[in-house]
Amino acid sequence: MASQTFDLAVVGAGVVGLAHACVAAKAGKRVAVIERDARANGASIRNFGFITVTGQERGASWRLARRTRDVWAEAARAANIPIEQRGLYLTARSAEAAAVVEAFLATEMGEGCRILAAEAFRAEAGGLGAADLVCVLHSPHELRVESRTAIPALTAWLQESLGVSLFNETVVFDAAPPRLATSRGVIEAGAVVVCPGEDFVTLYAERIAAYGLRKCRLSMLKLADPGFRLPGALMSDLSLARYRGYAALPQASALEARLRTEHPGAFQHGVHLIVAQGADGGLIVGDSHHYEHLPGPFAPAAAEREILDEYARATGRPAPAVLERWTGVYAVADDRTYLIDTPQANVRLVIVTSGTGASTGFGIAERVIGDLFGQTAEATA
Ligand SMILES: Cc1cc2nc3c(=O)[nH]c(=O)nc-3n(C[C@H](O)[C@H](O)[C@H](O)COP(=O)(O)OP(=O)(O)OC[C@H]3O[C@@H](n4cnc5c(N)ncnc54)[C@H](O)[C@@H]3O)c2cc1C
Repeated sequence: MASQTFDLAVVGAGVVGLAHACVAAKAGKRVAVIERDARANGASIRNFGFITVTGQERGASWRLARRTRDVWAEAARAANIPIEQRGLYLTARSAEAAAVVEAFLATEMGEGCRILAAEAFRAEAGGLGAADLVCVLHSPHELRVESRTAIPALTAWLQESLGVSLFNETVVFDAAPPRLATSRGVIEAGAVVVCPGEDFVTLYAERIAAYGLRKCRLSMLKLADPGFRLPGALMSDLSLARYRGYAALPQASALEARLRTEHPGAFQHGVHLIVAQGADGGLIVGDSHHYEHLPGPFAPAAAEREILDEYARATGRPAPAVLERWTGVYAVADDRTYLIDTPQANVRLVIVTSGTGASTGFGIAERVIGDLFGQTAEATA
């Protein structure tokens, strides 16, 4: 490996690592990104690419998501990453669900959102929605990119336009600046941000262990073009009992009790519904949540059936053919949505612990880079 010195080395080329590289490079720093795989292959390319504001935990996460959405919009424009969808439609199919939606709209998080009567939604969405649809929450705040192409495009743009150096197929096994020991030799850097995703053991294992993190395995599907075009990403009642921005509202407990009785299998497999549509018309649909110390490769078919059943209930249409299936894993904490740890003065360990890294990564990165480099980075944030 040629001897080079960087201001910042970022470990991990997932969306969180790339966000840190982006913010630092824009602030004029010489940045290296070091990635174990040939390219990002983990949660960051397996997700919905749904940059979600509405439904994020009230307070810091919601504000980080709003900022991240704005930075994504700029980065997508610069890197020629298509925004596949804008906004979110969330169904309410019972009086309890409608009460949560109304309560949400009355909070500061409801700013810019609106409630659509069932008929108004059907008019906007080509007749979608089953007979029991009461109303729909519409949020204009979300963006959706196709992660499997957007993450490689973001990586290439960082290299070509912002001068970021990428070292792939390289494992970092000691990240103590000014020297990082890697499987291909030494890289010199004045500061390090470690963004290891769900790798809790290669770097700072003891510090990570102190946070008591777990892992969550999710099942995802790609469905054939259903013949209709969604006006935005679609979520359903189950999400109101899962996403903390809704689920923490007092009205959500009655809804959760009802949903647990009506759909016990969905709760057993941690299923809620997101339907995102790509330029080819195909649908990215998920997901389930299984929490395990070591999530195995075995995804229960029953979870997939729960996802497809909820799709049918939310859209009022049968699910199209399944074209692809995959799983993904992310880090989880019970007490925080992300962690920023400081193993030493010029090292930060950053892990998103709530399955929201695409939605909060840029906002978190601005804080971390500002903290590491002071005003230089913050001025560009
Ligand atoms: C199925 C699924 C759906 C999701 N949907 C959404 C969504 O729609 N919206 C949203 O906001 N979030 C979503 N999430 C969560 C989001 O994808 C994650 O929070 C985010 O991708 C985490 O990014 P990361 O960069 O921290 O981790 P990762 O994407 O896991 O990347 C970490 C990288 O670090 C590398 N690495 C680790 N250790 C080392 C080392 N020592 N040396 C070299 N390389 C190393 C790994 O190889 C890996 O590439 C979803 C997640 C899943 C699994």
